[in-house]
Amino acid sequence: MPGIIRFAPSPTGFLHEGHLLSALYVWAAAKKWDLKIHLRIEDHDQGRARKEYIDGIREDLAWFGFQYDSESIQSSHFDFFQKVLDKLTAQGLVYPCTCSRKQLQSENPISETGEVIYQGKCFFRRETKDEINDTWCFSTLVELSSMRRREINLPHNLRIVIPDKVINWHDERLGDFSENPKNQCGDFPIRDRDGFWTYQFAVCIDDLTDGITHIVRGEDIRNSTARQIALSQLIAETCQGDSNLNIPTYTRPVYLHHPLIVDPTGKKLSKREHAYSLRQEKENGKTPQELLGQILHKAGFLPHIVPTMLEQAIATVAERL
Ligand SMILES: [Zn+2]
Repeated sequence: MPGIIRFAPSPTGFLHEGHLLSALYVWAAAKKWDLKIHLRIEDHDQGRARKEYIDGIREDLAWFGFQYDSESIQSSHFDFFQKVLDKLTAQGLVYPCTCSRKQLQSENPISETGEVIYQGKCFFRRETKDEINDTWCFSTLVELSSMRRREINLPHNLRIVIPDKVINWHDERLGDFSENPKNQCGDFPIRDRDGFWTYQFAVCIDDLTDGITHIVRGEDIRNSTARQIALSQLIAETCQGDSNLNIPTYTRPVYLHHPLIVDPTGKKLSKREHAYSLRQEKENGKTPQELLGQILHKAGFLPHIVPTMLEQAIATVAERL
């Protein structure tokens, strides 16, 4: 069976050159390792996802000539996400967190990368397996439960109880990492305060159920890898044997995090700094070949901008993988 790699943009804006570089890496990896390509539209953030951007992803990929073998959209899996959440909750692995942004910042240590390392202040709101299963409770537990219920009428996200365990993982370009998600970020949200599924939760379930064997994505997401491995393992173990869910056994994918486009001083471009979306470039009269030449030059593959056919651009990136 050939492996499967995914290209997974979020429809929160039109694709820009950062996406184009990522697509080249994904298609190059598929060429090098003989993989099927899956397009996943990651519209988990329903507050920001828009129909015109979803259509835009398909249109822009087609304009360049990127072809893929299958496609899915996250929002069609939301019922399934809920079933997985119910299963995790029933195992006592999820709890509501009512901490405000301000509290999170002031009450927890901040990592070197600027992330809050959540210390589990709201962990006490977790309902244990016994409490969930018990039809009769001691009066103290009843009191405790009702107190919890009152409190979670406040805005809250849902956090996953992540194991305190070092994850050793390998990146095909960057080498070996040993990271403990508990020390990187602590228990993290799987559903946000607005009731939307988080990126971490949605991506783990979809990678599992889509049978993704290779993950190639930008270096900016490298930091999420250990927690995604931990969460995927937890989901697979918890849901194993439940025929309603039918989640396959977890096999860790191959990871490669590619470099990002940087400005002349070596600093990563923010979303805002990508001057034009690909479709604006198109409207300005640029051809796909010109844009491919431009991105290969910016990413250091070509010394000068030379219009490049897609096949050639993919082959050029594949040679350096
Ligand atoms: Zn909290």
